[in-house]
Formats: sequence, C-alpha cells, structure tokens
Amino acid sequence: MKRNPDVLIVGAGLAGLACALKLMEKGITFLILEASNGVGGRVRTDVFEDFRLDRGFQVLLTGYPEAKRVLDYGALKLHSFYPGCLIRVGDSFHKFGDPFRNPLDIFMTMLAPIGTWEDKFAIAKLRKRLVSTPFGDIMRGPETSTIELLRSEGFTDAIINQFFRPFFGGISFDESLVTSSRIFESVFKLFAQNDTAIPQDGMGAIPNQLAKRLPPNSLRMNTKVLSVQDGIMNLPHGETLGAQAIVVATDGPEAAKLLGDDITISPSRVVTCMYYAAGKPPLDEPLLILNGEGKKDGPINNMCFISNVCPSYAPAGHTLVSVTLLSYPEEDEMELEAIVRVQLKEWFPDEAYKWRYLKTYKLAHGLPDQSIPHISEIERPVRLRKGLYVCGDHRDTASIDGALYSGRRAAEAVLSELTP
Ligand SMILES: Cc1cc2nc3c(=O)[nH]c(=O)nc-3n(C[C@H](O)[C@H](O)[C@H](O)COP(=O)(O)OP(=O)(O)OC[C@H]3O[C@@H](n4cnc5c(N)ncnc54)[C@H](O)[C@@H]3O)c2cc1C
Repeated sequence: MKRNPDVLIVGAGLAGLACALKLMEKGITFLILEASNGVGGRVRTDVFEDFRLDRGFQVLLTGYPEAKRVLDYGALKLHSFYPGCLIRVGDSFHKFGDPFRNPLDIFMTMLAPIGTWEDKFAIAKLRKRLVSTPFGDIMRGPETSTIELLRSEGFTDAIINQFFRPFFGGISFDESLVTSSRIFESVFKLFAQNDTAIPQDGMGAIPNQLAKRLPPNSLRMNTKVLSVQDGIMNLPHGETLGAQAIVVATDGPEAAKLLGDDITISPSRVVTCMYYAAGKPPLDEPLLILNGEGKKDGPINNMCFISNVCPSYAPAGHTLVSVTLLSYPEEDEMELEAIVRVQLKEWFPDEAYKWRYLKTYKLAHGLPDQSIPHISEIERPVRLRKGLYVCGDHRDTASIDGALYSGRRAAEAVLSELTP
C-alpha cells in the first residue's frame, strides 16, 4: 500500500527545495507540489534560440552564508563579474571600480565624474565599517531607510543619484531607496567582500542542482495547490492529499491567498527584463552598466553584455544583452521594445540599431518590498501552528539566500514537532 508522505510542500522554488533537502537529511518523507512545469520559481533559465535567458537578470553573491552551505559552487562552474561597474552619466560611460579589489582602478575611479572626491572617501569609509561588522550585528543594528542612511553618512545627491540609486535600486527593485538600511548594508558588505557570479548553465542551474538531490517520486510538477487546511490540501479535479505537516513555500502573494489571515506579507516590487542578441559587443569587460541619469535618460535601470561574463549564455559569435527596467510597463511587448531601443541607440549609436530583440519577462511580483515597517523583523515566523508552516523570501531577506535559509528554518520547525 502506498504510504502518505510525512510532509507536503507547496512550491519547488529555492525555499521549497531547501526545506525538502533538510527533511530528507533527517529521513522524513515528503512530496513537493509545484504549479509550473519546472523547479526554481523565480530562478529559472530558458534556452531560447541557443541563448540562455534567466527569467529576469539576477546574480549569485558568492558570500551568501546559506548558499555557501547548501550549494556546490564548483559544480555550478561560476563566472564572476568585474568588481565595479560602468555608469552612464551625461553622454558617456565612466568606470567606477572597487580599488580595494582592483588597485589599478583607483585613478580611473577617483577621476570619474561620479559624485565628489569626498563621496569616494565616504564610500571607502562605509566599506571599511561594513567589512568589519558581522552580518548579525548589521541585522540587529540601527535601522532607517537606505536614503536616510546615505544622507547621514554625508553622501551628496550626485553620488546618490548616479551610483546608489541605480545600483542598490536595481537590487531591491526600489529606486526611491526606502528599503531598510540593514538590507543595504548587508548587500554592500557582500559585494565588497565576495564575487558576484552566474553559473555556466544559467541561474536555473542553482535550483536544478538542488532538485537532483531529491529522492525519486518526491516532486510532482504541473500541480497547483488550490487551498490548504489543517493537514489537508486540495488539488485540481477534486483531489485531496493529507500529511502530518504542510509547508507553504510559494511567493508571498500566493502564500497570502493560501493562508489568509495566518500571515501578513509586504507589497510586491515589480521588474521587467528584456533580452537582445548582438554580434560583437561594444565592450569586452564583464561589467554591469548602470543608468546614472535616472528616468530622464529613459526607462533602463541597468544592462549587461551577459555573455561577456559567461560566454555560454550566447551561441558562438553572438552576444546576449540583458536590460532591466524597474517598472511594469503598460505598453505591449513591441511598443516597449521600441521605447527601450531609443535609449540603447543613444548609448550605443553604432551598434544598438543592429541588435535583434529576443524576449521580455515582466514580473508583477519580482521581490517583496523590504522597506520599514514591512521588514522590521528580518526573520519572520515560519511556524503558523502545529502542522502548518510557511517559508519563502517573504520570511527572510528577499534574496536567493533568504529563500534558502527560510526553507531550512521551516524544515527545522517541522522536525521539532513531527511525531516519528
Ligand atoms: C528578476 C529578479 C531578479 C532577482 N535578482 C536577484 C539577485 O540578483 N540575487 C538574489 O539573491 N536574489 C534575486 N532575486 C530574488 C530571488 O530570485 C528570490 O528571492 C527567490 O528566488 C525566491 O525564492 P522562493 O522559493 O521564496 O519563491 P519562488 O521562487 O517564487 O518559488 C515559489 C514556487 O512556488 C510555486 N507555486 C506558487 N503557487 C503555487 C501553488 N498554489 N501550488 C503549487 N506551487 C505553487 C511557484 O511556481 C514557484 O515555483 C531576484 C528576483 C527576480 C524576480
């Protein structure tokens, strides 16, 4: 007779997979129900005309503590970005490096017309403070908005608008910089001390690596969970499943639908990512390019010749261009493409008119809002009551690491209560 699993998990994103693997370690049986046709949730890679398109430009910060614990970085064959970026200000691009990691960049960075000399010294001071502060102290430390923190550290509007707004705005999907200063500080520390990388097979290789470790028959795809009650879940066609414990590991908005008043979630931050195919790239370096002029230059927040970082993202002789907008435009795909191409042609007049449009990913829920008061508590509860648990990036920092960590926390809560 087929035995019911001990635990049912809703969602095979990073949180659901991390939760499952922790349960597996302790010999607990489980079944993951996944609505889509693959694992990874927001971290998936589509192969499109031999290009690898991540479903939204994203990166792995190799210093993430939970990712280091759970992932096999060697097997992911990570390719790193150059530590620094190129910033579009006025009519040209300026390299803004991290001289602590690349001393040769010091003169170029000091001379770049990005902020003032005092701003650059203030960045070095902030860097020094954060590098020597443990993550735990940052997360328990004083909290304000990022913009208030930057002002209190003495940064001018010039550097805030030209560098911090596009850079950190592009990470938190929040150009207004109202995101918690603790999130800003922890991310700044991670960038200062570690590599920023993408796997050879695309970001989707991260969840795929985890899914390969699952036991046979523990994952059921194309199965949307319709509702969850104590110990029971309802599936399409009147099917029901039961278990000692249920873990809801979906994104925040879906968790709120399934769990109702049992949880509160923060609003969603939107994002749009567009891809183009180019021939030879206008620059060879594996750099992120930031829009230091804001909306007056156009809708692009950041862009990247992503195959400069990892050549396997594009077929031989081609370049993959990724473009990120921190909005959810109303225009249809081709209208939006036309708007974005105007800006690309301003930036790369000799090349961008030749680039071939590939695809757009518009995400109404890119990340949970991490501004105060939504994130006053970084580790939100994962146990709702005996038998019902929740995890996902809406329970911890809104990141790959936060999702993985929340999955482990949920599994540990289940393990402490499960009857053997
Ligand atoms: C464009 C973009 C860029 C990002 N950039 C970065 C970055 O550079 N670095 C970083 O650390 N983080 C980044 N993030 C954030 C990171 O991707 C997420 O925080 C993380 O992947 C969330 O994982 P999760 O498991 O919590 O949720 P999800 O990935 O949302 O997984 C939830 C899963 O549940 C499934 N599901 C939903 N409802 C149901 C249902 N009713 N029944 C069954 N299954 C269901 C979904 O299909 C999905 O597979 C980015 C996110 C986006 C969108």
